[in-house]
Amino acid sequence: MPADLMKRIRMCVDAACDQLLAGQVGYIFLRADDVAVPGIQFYRLMQMFAKYHVPLCLAVVPAWLTPARWRQLNDIGRHRVRLWCWHQHGWRHFNHQMAGKKQEFGPKRTQSAIENDIIRGRQRLEDLIGSRFYPVFTPPWNRCDFRTLKLIQKHDYLAVSTGKGSAEPSPDGLTNFYVNVDLHTRKEANPAAGWNNLFEELKAAISSGYCGIMIHHQRMNDAAYEFLEILFKAILARKKLQLVHFEDLVQVLNGSRFRVQGSGLRKSDIRNYSTQDTET
Ligand SMILES: [Zn+2]
Repeated sequence: MPADLMKRIRMCVDAACDQLLAGQVGYIFLRADDVAVPGIQFYRLMQMFAKYHVPLCLAVVPAWLTPARWRQLNDIGRHRVRLWCWHQHGWRHFNHQMAGKKQEFGPKRTQSAIENDIIRGRQRLEDLIGSRFYPVFTPPWNRCDFRTLKLIQKHDYLAVSTGKGSAEPSPDGLTNFYVNVDLHTRKEANPAAGWNNLFEELKAAISSGYCGIMIHHQRMNDAAYEFLEILFKAILARKKLQLVHFEDLVQVLNGSRFRVQGSGLRKSDIRNYSTQDTET
């Protein structure tokens, strides 16, 4: 971790914020992937989001979820139920590609096999999670082929969430809440370059008015939690920035395609997360 981390995060967020147009709100969401198994790391993540009232999109792997696991996950977040957007992360997070980039829903599979997995994944989450399930689809490894996107649309999902530029362009009418910042899986060979690029990504995303941050709790160490906490404080200190999850974004957009620049989303359309929301 750079010694001046706190200063650098603040400078990055402030500089990005200053680039927003007058009256423009910078929307920021965080998406935690590979959710299903409760554990210390997951508990710590949820506690931190709850402490700062920060909403979180949780991408749940259907085949990994059991009734007992869901009871525990739900219990961890029970005091802040409105913060969480539980949605679908593929079916079983299995790579079907023999070569090239990993995909669960790629060209190696038949359309009927893809459709089967999408449907049974959703069914399982609806059975276990019930009304807390929100119909957005995050494909494992952030990518899927165009047939999959068409099927997502056919089965009335409200949006897909891939990595920026890592999937085919969405068919008309299907919103893609893509992530454009990856906090943990940096590819740079040296740490200094990794930090620089991370701050550049973050700044570019926030200043565009649309920032989607991907996190993986299994890979988080103390430093990663510390980073996130400083980032939350820096974001929450700026009134032009609004933390959201998918449900807010969908409600606001109400079916229109997402436009990255000057999205036209209004801060007044976004829910207030600061109130206690204990499950009864
Ligand atoms: Zn994943």
